[in-house]
Amino acid sequence: MNCRICSQKTVPFLKCLDFEFRKNPMYLVQCSSCNTILVDPIPEKNELAKYYENSYYHKPSFFFNFIQKRRKRFFSNMTPGKVLDVGCGTGNFLETMQQAEWTCSGTEFSTSSKPFLEPLRKKGISIQYGELKQLDFPQDSFDLVTFWHVIEHLQFPQQEIATAHKLIKKNGLLFIAIPNIDSLSFAFWKCNWFHLDLPRHLVLFSPKTITSLLEKNGFEVIRISHFAIEYNPYGVLQSIYNALGFEFNLLTQKIKAQKKNKTLSSKLQLGLVFLSLPLLLPISFLLAYIFSIIGRGDTISVWARKR
Ligand SMILES: [Zn+2]
Repeated sequence: MNCRICSQKTVPFLKCLDFEFRKNPMYLVQCSSCNTILVDPIPEKNELAKYYENSYYHKPSFFFNFIQKRRKRFFSNMTPGKVLDVGCGTGNFLETMQQAEWTCSGTEFSTSSKPFLEPLRKKGISIQYGELKQLDFPQDSFDLVTFWHVIEHLQFPQQEIATAHKLIKKNGLLFIAIPNIDSLSFAFWKCNWFHLDLPRHLVLFSPKTITSLLEKNGFEVIRISHFAIEYNPYGVLQSIYNALGFEFNLLTQKIKAQKKNKTLSSKLQLGLVFLSLPLLLPISFLLAYIFSIIGRGDTISVWARKR
């Protein structure tokens, strides 16, 4: 199978189990030309949908709301203008941007976010459902387009970035937050790395591969940050528990209140997880911080300017 970004040949990279049911093998390949890591083959559409049923688009937790509201700070040095958030989820980020005087638009692929997004429409935030390339936004009209942990879920990310380029004004900004396959966490923990999240994540970039994709599509990368407090320490923490042999993503399942019928073993393991948190949580923060200062963070935030 050829690369879904540049159509060149790919070579086998890694085989893991899926992150939800822990029974389906997932194959990662690497493009021999652009070096991007891809899930290949991608599960069938109906099969893939099953991986989104449990954990996504529930009423967001207090913690997740808090995270989304903090995202505004990334753009506090910009003069408010027009922002488009692609894959806006429940729309919290746009709500806070609107409070900071931005004119806000959002897209969402899944209509299951409608109960959260319809009230935002009444507040004057424009929402469209579907894939960006099929939607009807005016060209050269946005000062800022944001993708918060969206790109890695796409089958053909290049198309979405090319569309974003058309919609952004000259010298406008593109912002992308994604997992970093070049992270030390991936290097240490491989298939146990929390942010691998197979097969919800279909494509995994490094700072190099995302930079080259953006440059090919008419952007200049102006900054890459390796520390996101809402993602990186937690990624390290959950990866450590996975690597230690605890039930896979046990803490995450607990936080998302999934899998109600716990076995005795799960309950005992969860007890151990909570007992060890006072030790492992500070260690995870410290590691995430060290990884970020040497430029190998779990997730990266990329700012790029339209040329
Ligand atoms: Zn490629």
